[in-house]
Amino acid sequence: MKPESKNPLRWFSRYLSRHHLGIKWNLFISFLAFSIVLLILLWLFQTVFLDSFYQAIKSRSIVHTADTLATNIDHEELSTLVSRIAQDDDICIRIIDADGQEMASADIGQACIIHRMPTSELWRYHTLAASNGGSYLEHFDRNAFKNDRYDDQHFTGTVPSKDPGMLDTIIYARTVKLADDTQAVILLNTILTPVTSTVETLRVQLVYMTGILVFLSLVLALVMSRRVARPIIQINDTSKKMAKGDYGVTFRASGYKEIAELAETLNHTVQELGRVEGLRRELLANISHDLRTPLTMISGYAEVMRDLPGENSPENVQVIIDESRRLTNLVNDLLDMSKIQAGTQAMRFETYDLAESVQTILQRYTKLTEQEGLDLAFTSDGAALVQADEARIEQVLYNLINNAINYTGDNRKVRVCLTQRDGRVLVEIIDWGDGIAPDQLPHIWDRYYKVDKVHKRAVIGNGLGLSIVKSILDAHHAAYGVNSTVGKGSTFWFSLPLATD
Ligand code: ADP
Repeated sequence: MKPESKNPLRWFSRYLSRHHLGIKWNLFISFLAFSIVLLILLWLFQTVFLDSFYQAIKSRSIVHTADTLATNIDHEELSTLVSRIAQDDDICIRIIDADGQEMASADIGQACIIHRMPTSELWRYHTLAASNGGSYLEHFDRNAFKNDRYDDQHFTGTVPSKDPGMLDTIIYARTVKLADDTQAVILLNTILTPVTSTVETLRVQLVYMTGILVFLSLVLALVMSRRVARPIIQINDTSKKMAKGDYGVTFRASGYKEIAELAETLNHTVQELGRVEGLRRELLANISHDLRTPLTMISGYAEVMRDLPGENSPENVQVIIDESRRLTNLVNDLLDMSKIQAGTQAMRFETYDLAESVQTILQRYTKLTEQEGLDLAFTSDGAALVQADEARIEQVLYNLINNAINYTGDNRKVRVCLTQRDGRVLVEIIDWGDGIAPDQLPHIWDRYYKVDKVHKRAVIGNGLGLSIVKSILDAHHAAYGVNSTVGKGSTFWFSLPLATD
């Protein structure tokens, strides 16, 4: 035998998992195993241990009766109590004082041995109880009548000895002190009804129960497996379609609550996968477009300059430089994105003045404001020390300010405001442009997401800016968001805790 089969339960569960049985058979085998354990327990308790249980209960009840009698031994109504207990509990009682006089007695008939014993036997029980700490219990087996000690001559009156119908009994003796300091003995005797016929009945019942339980296990397994297995099989089939790239599938939520929840989760997953797949396709188109356009320009201008000496002008060289810069920016953005999101680019936190940093950035836009009539202004309520990665936060600011400039309206107005409140500094970048539709708002932070699907290269970026902003701000555990109204403009904001030192 293999060592693993030593623990039957473990072996059973391994067997089930290894052999990949269907839910139906798994359930059936489990129910069957449960029924078998139940039947074994029933059989043990109802047949094997029934006798011992019955005897233990009877013994406990006889000891309890002796306790009651011992407490009331000096009561004047003792005889009444004795006959009442004898009748109620079917117990034979004799109380004998030190002189051998009977203080009270109740004889419940033929099976009552203590009333048919010679005095010497009674004294024997007295002595046994006295030497045994005050009480003595004896299971009086019907076979004991065959003992020499219980020969016919020991008994007075009608002796039912050696009668095969004779019943097992329990004899209990208890010594007790009377009010006058003398000792009395309480003798109790109760019949043990034979359980053999009961056991026989139970055994037959158990055979029927086994049949019924096996049948019920099968029915239950079938019913439950239908409820559990069917939706799982459906979900499995739909998942296979999804794995092949069909993101238009819908998982049907039926059966148990957990399965319905699983179906809902999968529906959500397939929706998200579909969306990501869409974005991925769009990215490929956009990136290739973004890469191709500057490359075409660079090679076109370079060729013209090579073939026509007159075209070798600084303006044309500038076009080549601008286009290569655009390419570099795109590639850098892509690299930044993946580094930040993969967590390989650790943040370098240091304490610095955010207000000063914003001021410096805005100064770099001076040329743009002069040339393009941009109205860019900054308001702040003083130095704002924060603990952050300065270079990364600069990147956030550049992206947000560039977006505001790109999408600003006819008034060409952009405001950057810094306000300090409740130990935090709030940075707002406000424009009065077209704004963003509410249904687009949750998506603008996604990678490669662009509200305007028409590729307006000159104005619109590559759709990576806000997702870089999001990654950096997430790494800073900063709060951020956007308030936007279509036709009125947008306010992009983020807030950082002020440095304490
Ligand atoms: P892009 O490089 O295309 O600007 P972003 O990730 O920076 O990409 O922005 C995503 C989208 O969010 C943009 O395509 C644009 O439609 C929208 N958006 C961002 N900033 C603004 C703004 N200030 N006003 C209006 N729309 C904006």
